[in-house]
Amino acid sequence: MANETAQKIGPVILLGPPGAGKGTQSKRIAIHYGIPQISTGDLLREHVARGTELGRKAKDIMDRGELVPDDLMYGMVADRLKHVDCSKGFILDGFPRTAGQAGWLDAFLEREFFENSKRCSPVVIRMDVDYTQLLLRLTGRRCCPTCGRIYNLHFQPPRVDEICDLAHGSKLVQRNDDRDEVIRPRLTAYEVQTKPVADYYQAKGRLIPLNADRPMDEVTADLLALIDRCGAPAASGMTKSE
Ligand code: AMP
Repeated sequence: MANETAQKIGPVILLGPPGAGKGTQSKRIAIHYGIPQISTGDLLREHVARGTELGRKAKDIMDRGELVPDDLMYGMVADRLKHVDCSKGFILDGFPRTAGQAGWLDAFLEREFFENSKRCSPVVIRMDVDYTQLLLRLTGRRCCPTCGRIYNLHFQPPRVDEICDLAHGSKLVQRNDDRDEVIRPRLTAYEVQTKPVADYYQAKGRLIPLNADRPMDEVTADLLALIDRCGAPAASGMTKSE
């Protein structure tokens, strides 16, 4: 349930490799605080499904497990963050994913949000998971196309093989980029292009590492505690990010 009494929180940025649980955890955080979860992967998949120009450009890149070029991402992310539902805070899942995107985001937040004293510093949490565990999470991941519920065939299977427990018999689907041959390029993209994002925030003293190789509820509890502690506006007012 949305927490109606929650105060405004700073933007929350969840970093971590594909399969770390960013999607699952950010949905929980979003519900807890009543703020939107902004997943750039989901936004891009919507563009692909709608056949927009961005979607046409991004589709093959995503199917290969590579990152969409930064300049294609900025307009989409800026449009989404300017939406009124972000005024109480928001959680970014899958963005920034390059050092360039991290610099762009800082400048954007400074320009669009801190100017109006709407926000406090982003809370940047990196979810760390062991490599073998990541592979199991990615190869086993299945999603209900009707209700969006996520399962894992290894750890959290549906009651009936490949069928959603909730959505009246919907057959679960595997994301295109969770196929075996695409998983490795995605993990490589993370190592080469996204690890520098953690370095970027580390250098600014803003990176919080979290062991995410634990039961889901434990990880959620830790994330909420961290956000409560680090994400609320300072008593004297909002603070700028740097
Ligand atoms: P995700 O659902 O976050 O794993 O993203 C799925 C795919 O969308 C990625 O493998 C990339 O091809 C693309 N993508 C998502 N977010 C970004 C981003 N911030 N920068 C570049 N490409 C992205």
